[in-house]
Amino acid sequence: MNGLMNDRIALNKRPTELDMSVQRKFVILDRDGVINHDSALYIKSPEEWRPIAGSLEAISALVQAGIEVAVVSNQSAIGRGLISEEMLKSIHMKMSREVEKAGGRIAGIYYCPHHPSDACDCRKPALGMIKRLEHEHGILVKGMPLIGDKPTDIELAKRAGARPILVRTGYGENSLDSIDRSVAVYENLACAVKALLAEGTT
Ligand SMILES: [Mg+2]
Ligand SMILES: [Zn+2]
Repeated sequence: MNGLMNDRIALNKRPTELDMSVQRKFVILDRDGVINHDSALYIKSPEEWRPIAGSLEAISALVQAGIEVAVVSNQSAIGRGLISEEMLKSIHMKMSREVEKAGGRIAGIYYCPHHPSDACDCRKPALGMIKRLEHEHGILVKGMPLIGDKPTDIELAKRAGARPILVRTGYGENSLDSIDRSVAVYENLACAVKALLAEGTT
């Protein structure tokens, strides 16, 4: 009888913010300039998607440590008419395949396909993609690391209450002047992940 009542109490108990963050850990990654080399001409095919040295292994290291990885990426190349949504999906299939070959896994890929002039609610630093990630995975990104190479990534992290981290790869070197000193800066994704895992608290 007591056992049954306790079960009922347990079932009725709603997860608190703390419970949720204890259950699942995420690191949120920008794509271009963080996982793969960026291009001023945009990444328009799977062939043009080339991983930055150590990035696939870094994602794998996170996953092996029980930390899930999600990608949030502005892909205005679609809104600009440079690539189709189908092409973007085949680029992402290649990325997922390469990550899996290295022993990792990407839990979710979110992208904004819009043109900057569309004034959508998902183009970074707007919160649309973060809200979808939170909704689809039942998590809160508050306090979770968000790693990017542009000021918009840092701004997104701040708006989401996530922990902003800048890498010097991609556009990162150019972003240094426009971010404040409180933001952690690492050489590349491999170094950022190494530091996060060394903390043991991510
Ligand atoms: Mg980027
Ligand atoms: Zn959008």
